[in-house]
Amino acid sequence: MTDSELKRLIEDRENQDELFAFADAVRRKNFGTEVQLRGLVEITNYCKNNCYYCGIRKDNAHIERYRLTKDIITECCKKGYASGLRTFVLQGGEDSCFTDSRICEIIASIKESCPGCIVTLSIGEKSYESYLAYKNAGADRFLLRHETADAGLYSLLHPKSMSFEHRRQCLRDLKSIGFGVGSGFMIGAPFQTAEHIVRDFRFLQELKPDMIGVGPYITQKDTPLCMHKSGSLDLSLRVLALLRIMFPKALIPATTALGTVAENGRERGLKAGANVIMHNISPLEFRRQYALYDGKSPL
Ligand code: SAM
Repeated sequence: MTDSELKRLIEDRENQDELFAFADAVRRKNFGTEVQLRGLVEITNYCKNNCYYCGIRKDNAHIERYRLTKDIITECCKKGYASGLRTFVLQGGEDSCFTDSRICEIIASIKESCPGCIVTLSIGEKSYESYLAYKNAGADRFLLRHETADAGLYSLLHPKSMSFEHRRQCLRDLKSIGFGVGSGFMIGAPFQTAEHIVRDFRFLQELKPDMIGVGPYITQKDTPLCMHKSGSLDLSLRVLALLRIMFPKALIPATTALGTVAENGRERGLKAGANVIMHNISPLEFRRQYALYDGKSPL
């Protein structure tokens, strides 16, 4: 498809049901009716970064901060394992208390307690050496959304201290080390146009990720971009469906954010090409504090 055909499909509300049905057929052909479940542990809401859209940004003084210990994280995974989960995703802000050796100990502890499981990390931008250490400790996959493939849009969403190029370099490093790599972006983010989304598609075509995580941008009341409205369910589903068609074999979650913009958002996502659900297995008492955006479901 050309860029202008893609742009038309991103914007075409009228024929979206056909697009969703086609994406659903592609998903069924490649994955049948199986939905893959992941256990998500939100390990810390401390973050050294200040992304303008994110509720756990460093300068947000309105949230209570927490970090989980190795034992609590392992316990969450053990419970998930007992109920049948086999892939665990550890996600968190960029928290310097989670040193490389601490992360490696956590990976080893989960691997020992949950034989044969897959450990996925989503803990942000690190050095090549850190990523290598995580891989050597047994981590299998890494999720790092590129956020946007447009340098201009990146600079509207992030402070100057954060580097568009470094994030892309991290993705290349992760691939070269041999991680199963996931990337992605927010849909309907402030200042984002259909042209930006086409660039995201092109970037993903170059990167060839194993997983693609996309979900609507959702307003968070304590962020600098709080005056911008959330992305819509329809646009999110069209983007998700196009990704399924372009990347038939990719693992694509129906994200929590999709379930936040509409009550049946995640189910709609599964019917428009998604094939993964990330089930939150963090301790209940901390879930509210991992407040990336307003109205985030604790489930
Ligand atoms: N620190 C890690 C990183 O940078 O990849 C992982 C945690 S970060 C909070 C996970 C993802 O949350 C980001 O990649 C971003 O796309 C998403 N996110 C943050 N704020 C959001 C918002 N307001 N609406 C929707 N998604 C958001």
